[in-house]
Amino acid sequence: MESHATRRLTAEHVAARALVESATFGDAAPKILEAICEALGWEYGALWRIDRDADVLLCVDTWRSSSTEFPEFDAASRQITFSRGVGLPGRVWSTGQPTWIPDVVLDSNFPRGVIAARENLHGAFGFPILLRGEVQSVMEFFSREIRAPDEDLLSMLTSVGNQIGLFVDRRRAQEELDRFFALSLDMLCIAGFDGYFKRVNPSWQRILGYTEAELLSRPYIELIHPDDRDVTRVQAGRLTNGHDINYFENRYFHKDGTVRWLLWTSTPFAQQRIVYASARDITERKAAEETMASYARDLEHSQHALEEQTARLAQLVKELEVAKSRAEEAAETKSAFLANMSHEIRTPLNAILGMTTLALETKLTAEQHEYLDTVKSSAQSLLAIVNDVLDFSRIEARRLDLEHAAFDLREAVGDAAKLLALRAAEKGLELACHIHPDAPDEVLGDTGRLRQVLLNVLGNAVKFTETGEVVLHVDVEDINLARATLRFAVTDTGIGIPVDKQPQIFQAFTQADASTTRRFGGTGLGLAIAVRLVELMNGRMWVESEVGRGSTFFFTATFDRPQVAPRDPLVDKTTALDGLRVLVVDDNATNRGILEEMLSSWHMKPTAAADAESALTALRDAVARQDAFDVIIVDRLMPVVDGFMLARRVRRERPFARTPIVMMMSVGDGSETSRRGVGVDAYLTKPVKHSDLLDALATLFRVSTRRPRPERDVKPAARPAKRLRVLLAEDNLVNRKLVTKLLQKRGHHVHAVENGRAAVDTIASAQPDFDVVLMDLQMPEMGGFEATHEIRERERGTAEHLPIVALTAHAMAGDRERCLAAGMDGYLSKPIEVDDLIATVERFGAGAAAVIAAPAGDHHEHAAVFDEKVALGYTGGDRKLLKQVIGLFRSDSPASLRRIDRALRRRDSEALRMAAHALKGAIATVGSQAGRDAAAELETMARSNRFGDAERICGDLRHLVKQLDEAFAAAGLVSRPARRQARTRARAPRKRRSRS
Ligand code: ADP
Repeated sequence: MESHATRRLTAEHVAARALVESATFGDAAPKILEAICEALGWEYGALWRIDRDADVLLCVDTWRSSSTEFPEFDAASRQITFSRGVGLPGRVWSTGQPTWIPDVVLDSNFPRGVIAARENLHGAFGFPILLRGEVQSVMEFFSREIRAPDEDLLSMLTSVGNQIGLFVDRRRAQEELDRFFALSLDMLCIAGFDGYFKRVNPSWQRILGYTEAELLSRPYIELIHPDDRDVTRVQAGRLTNGHDINYFENRYFHKDGTVRWLLWTSTPFAQQRIVYASARDITERKAAEETMASYARDLEHSQHALEEQTARLAQLVKELEVAKSRAEEAAETKSAFLANMSHEIRTPLNAILGMTTLALETKLTAEQHEYLDTVKSSAQSLLAIVNDVLDFSRIEARRLDLEHAAFDLREAVGDAAKLLALRAAEKGLELACHIHPDAPDEVLGDTGRLRQVLLNVLGNAVKFTETGEVVLHVDVEDINLARATLRFAVTDTGIGIPVDKQPQIFQAFTQADASTTRRFGGTGLGLAIAVRLVELMNGRMWVESEVGRGSTFFFTATFDRPQVAPRDPLVDKTTALDGLRVLVVDDNATNRGILEEMLSSWHMKPTAAADAESALTALRDAVARQDAFDVIIVDRLMPVVDGFMLARRVRRERPFARTPIVMMMSVGDGSETSRRGVGVDAYLTKPVKHSDLLDALATLFRVSTRRPRPERDVKPAARPAKRLRVLLAEDNLVNRKLVTKLLQKRGHHVHAVENGRAAVDTIASAQPDFDVVLMDLQMPEMGGFEATHEIRERERGTAEHLPIVALTAHAMAGDRERCLAAGMDGYLSKPIEVDDLIATVERFGAGAAAVIAAPAGDHHEHAAVFDEKVALGYTGGDRKLLKQVIGLFRSDSPASLRRIDRALRRRDSEALRMAAHALKGAIATVGSQAGRDAAAELETMARSNRFGDAERICGDLRHLVKQLDEAFAAAGLVSRPARRQARTRARAPRKRRSRS
């Protein structure tokens, strides 16, 4: 019999062997149970495992010796579970210590005790299998004998339990490592320093397609891309020298010949001459990187290309800009050339016209007369064309500025329409003009240019219409206190314009139909100019037209409104005519409508009749109703019964025979003879203007008219009031001769000189004095401005004032102000119009002009340097107050001028504008329209940053302020300036004095 100790050693040994030979503890457990039972002579053993979920012990394995059987106990053990502290296994679990029970049948904490007794089991012990100090399983053993505890045995079993625990732990770690190695997606390997793989995980096969055996059977270098072999060898060398490798990349061949990129981390284990390495397949990432890189390269390329293109574009733009500015320069030069040329042409042309007019008044044969007549009319049409070209090129060269002066809208529009009345009448066309009652009476703008546009559009309408009517409507599109936008519409019943031609007609030199050109004449410039003029008036022009039915030309224009609304004279007059019953007889419905509206707007009671019969009926009815008409307005030209016939019939019927009759005539109506003896009380010419009709009615009913008749200075009187002594300073021979002849023909005495110097000298020595001077501006030796300056210097301190009229070639806005500011009194633009010349010379020469002041009531045409009446108007006629105001102005104005100077020097447009604005108000208050105008112009220039022009105007303004000072002195409103000249001359009695 073996000794106790030997058996124990055997048990330990067998248990250890069982563990080593088994893959898992599960496999080893029965062998261990057997080994322990056999070695120690115990009959039954069981293995209990902890079920962590249920927190109980379950029996997983049992063993019994072949000679014995414990069926009941075995079955019970397999069925039962133990909680902590219950039964033998539970006690081992809760204490973590081996437990010995000498006889289970006697033990109180042994649930299987009854069965054990039945099957004759007594002695028992159990021990824990610990893993890191924690109970994992419990082994229990039973004997038929009652057994006293054996301390040796227990300690041996404790060490067996610990061994098993360690084993299980190591196994588990091993298993984990194996699993990790096998399942890793990375390629893990162990390679020897000898250049062979020792171990590879399954990822190698998955990624490179080789079996493990294939991979281990040859030097790994053969699997590497030839280009990468050298670097790989170098890296391998580093590993053998003990260095780690991180982030090394090389290419391996797949079994199919393709290439995979691998990224390596390796570390050597020198003792065993091996390397642990992990590689990752980065082929995809590499490809993505490559794509990215190629994108980046592409991007860089395109950016490069883009930059190049941008540079090229910038260069192109630069070239274009140069070309554009050259083209613009060329266009402007061309326009300037055209403007100059047409101006140059106008001068001799005017001479031709003037001389022909003179020649026509001499004794001529009929044949000569006819020749000269043709010359004159040709020259006139040539002049019209040249004027068009001049206008157009001036606008194109941006050299045309519009006037900004107050004018009566209804008068201006009515007058323009009247200018075409004759042509319309000759063609038998009805020409009507309707201005909406809401349209303002007075506006600020360029009446001449508005007339030009209207004449063009109305002229075309008359030209291209054979029968029917031409109607001008003026409507209000937008109005407020400061501004009014008006819409003009000229409707005709003429040939119309095809839609496709409509845009073209507004271009220069184009006509709708070249073939009609010969029939109707014209240059095709009219509308082109009109469109541009309208644009300068902040408006636009368009047309609606239908071939065969007629056209309507529309245009809008915006006008400023005078700040102080003028007292409306029409209202004064009409209140006296309120409720006047008026019978309007006209066959033309448009005219009837217009007249009715006009009369109603004056609170009269109009009734309209379309023919004589209905007129008579209306008259009779009215008498019957005891509501007889106060006046009858009759159109002369009506079918069947005309105006005169109706008048005669009216006069024959007692009840209304004495009703006043106003007859509307067409110009050139040629019915002088039929007028006689009819008893018509007043005549009006068509188209009827507001003012004409109202004046006629006012005269008829003896209502005083406070409305001032607008001054017309264009037409000279039939005969001059007196023979004048005129000094003409003009360097151009033709002009000199022409002006001299024209004035001589009027019976005036003309002394002509060639320059300003001669003019000044002549004036100084002349006996008797001249009545008026005509002064060209640009002359050799001494120009007009200088000469005027000298003349005014000599007059300084005297009451003398020799009227000087400038002859200017530029005819631009601002010229007038400059002339007036320079001390001149009037202004004529060249080429000189005969009527204009004579009227102006005679007006100034005959003393119509007040001293220094321009003609009253016409201050827009000839702005006065100083108008005492206007100034007094501001002080309510208080002369003392005016003196004070002037005193203030004189002490302030030097500072104002300095402010303007400073702003100019600094090119500070806002400061300039403000300073000019301030001066404008001040200078207007002391009664200087010229000063106000100049300051206003300065303000405008400041707004548009035109400093060059502003400088010029500023000089004028300075001069004007000086002149104004003299004027104040002359008017006795301030003490005379200290510096006095020609004191003796001042005392000498002068004829001209009487004029002042
Ligand atoms: P023109 O000096 O030839 O009249 P415009 O510029 O005034 O030049 O007009 C250009 C062309 O527009 C005219 O020749 C004509 O063909 C056409 N046109 C202008 N107004 C009318 C109209 N009221 N009716 C028909 N055609 C018109």
